[in-house]
Order: sequence, then structure tokens, then C-alpha cells
Amino acid sequence: MDLADLYRDVIVDHNRNPRNFRKIAPPCEHAEGLNPLCGDKLQVYVRLDADDRIEDVSFEGSGCAISVASASLMTEALRGLPRPEAEALYDRIHGMLTGAEEADIDKVGKLAALAGVRAYPSRVKCASLCWHTIHSALAGGGVVSTE
Ligand code: ZN
Repeated sequence: MDLADLYRDVIVDHNRNPRNFRKIAPPCEHAEGLNPLCGDKLQVYVRLDADDRIEDVSFEGSGCAISVASASLMTEALRGLPRPEAEALYDRIHGMLTGAEEADIDKVGKLAALAGVRAYPSRVKCASLCWHTIHSALAGGGVVSTE
């Protein structure tokens, strides 16, 4: 399967059926992400367990297909990860979206599909929004804006 097929199939699937599209009841960390250029607005929730592992992660909000699909993929990828691995994945995806890193399906699985946005520079912020937002949530919360 090439990257273009993966991009189309995965984005369509996760936009139609977003995973973990719900709120997490406190105690949890939370942050809001805004991408004014596109109108994407996401709430990201994350709960860490006593071992600093991501016990639950979810999102709500509205946005374009890419922002929703990216957030859905992110919640699937992060669940169960120890915090340092989650931060490492954040760095890797950020590198992949900006073109600094190759999209390696062996390393990031379905998240490689997000590299498809590199063909549409205006959509890179849509794909990266949820990642910046969870980064902020893990750092104590707040509002993140791409502008
Ligand atoms: Zn968008």
C-alpha cells in the first residue's frame, strides 16, 4: 500500500468514525487547541496512571477531516504508552509532518498516513493541532493556537 492510498483510506475512516471522541471525567489533564486558519477547535483529555503511563486519552470538538482524523489516530496510538514514549512520538510525528523525518510505517504504523498532508502545506497545521494540544495538556494544560 503506498502512502497516498494509506492517506486517503485512513483519513476517511477516522474522520467518519473518530475513535475516543468523548470527554474524560476528572481527574485528567486537558488542553484546547485552535487552528484559526481552518477553523479547527479541539479539546484533548488525557489521564496518566500512577506509573506515569497514559491510561486514557480522548478528544472532542469540531474541525476538518484531517484535524479530526489526526486526533482520532493520536488517541489510538498514545493509549498505554509511558509518558516519555508519548513525548518521543510527539517529536517523531512533528518531524514527519514538517518533512524533517521520513514517514516510516514500521515505526509509526497508521500514523504514517498523516505524512500525506505534506503535499498540502496549508493542512499541516490541521494534522499537527491535536499533537500540540496534547503536548500542552501533558505540560499542565492551557490553550494552544497555531497562529
Ligand atoms: Zn483543518
